[in-house]
Amino acid sequence: MAAPLTLRRGDRLVLATHNAGKLAEFKQLLAPFGLELVSAGELGLPEPEETGTTFVENARIKARAAAAASNNIALADDSGLAVDAIGGRPGVYTANWAMSGTVRDYGIGMRRVEDSLQAAGATTPKDRRGSFNATLCLAHPDGREVVYEGKVEGTLVWPPRGDKGFGFDPSFMPDGYDLTFGEMSSDEKHSWSPGKTGLSHRARAFAKFVEDALGGGVEH
Ligand code: IMP
Repeated sequence: MAAPLTLRRGDRLVLATHNAGKLAEFKQLLAPFGLELVSAGELGLPEPEETGTTFVENARIKARAAAAASNNIALADDSGLAVDAIGGRPGVYTANWAMSGTVRDYGIGMRRVEDSLQAAGATTPKDRRGSFNATLCLAHPDGREVVYEGKVEGTLVWPPRGDKGFGFDPSFMPDGYDLTFGEMSSDEKHSWSPGKTGLSHRARAFAKFVEDALGGGVEH
């Protein structure tokens, strides 16, 4: 049987993302673990084409590509917003919905989601349900890989609120809160500490990764 994929204090981990918002969140979440973190961007690795049709497929593509190119264990995240009233879109295409020509503009992305909700007649909060989803893939250059998934349910709000976070954060209010992710500090958005489930989709997937690959965050 293949050895489990685990990480220990001092190990080098490649963060297989070129998204500055995700990178900042991972660096913060991983700070207590004493790993040597280096991003795909810092290593000058190319961004692989995301040809998958699911979060899992795309997370695997990114993690495998970074592990192979760096000859190091790599962690990738594929994530996005799934809105119920529009059939789960934008889903894996969330980043594309924020593209305006060659420029990424999240104001435009949030506006596209809102226009789609309006076209679907989704005006009351109960019609405007959605979730943020994150799939993490930890890949070793020898081919071993593990996937961790996290999801947070909530409501799409309009107009967007708050200037914290990144991406579509200002348009998403998680269940049980009066604040959008854009109005929360990153500590509130994650609401994660060892042993906890966390709040954001990323933190919830991260909690599973910590349990599995980092021994629950307990030094051993
Ligand atoms: P991808 O995983 O690189 O395909 O891109 C996912 C896209 O989903 C990002 O570009 C963001 O626009 C959006 N997204 C993912 N996670 C978050 C989040 O935590 N907050 C806000 N937007 C997010």
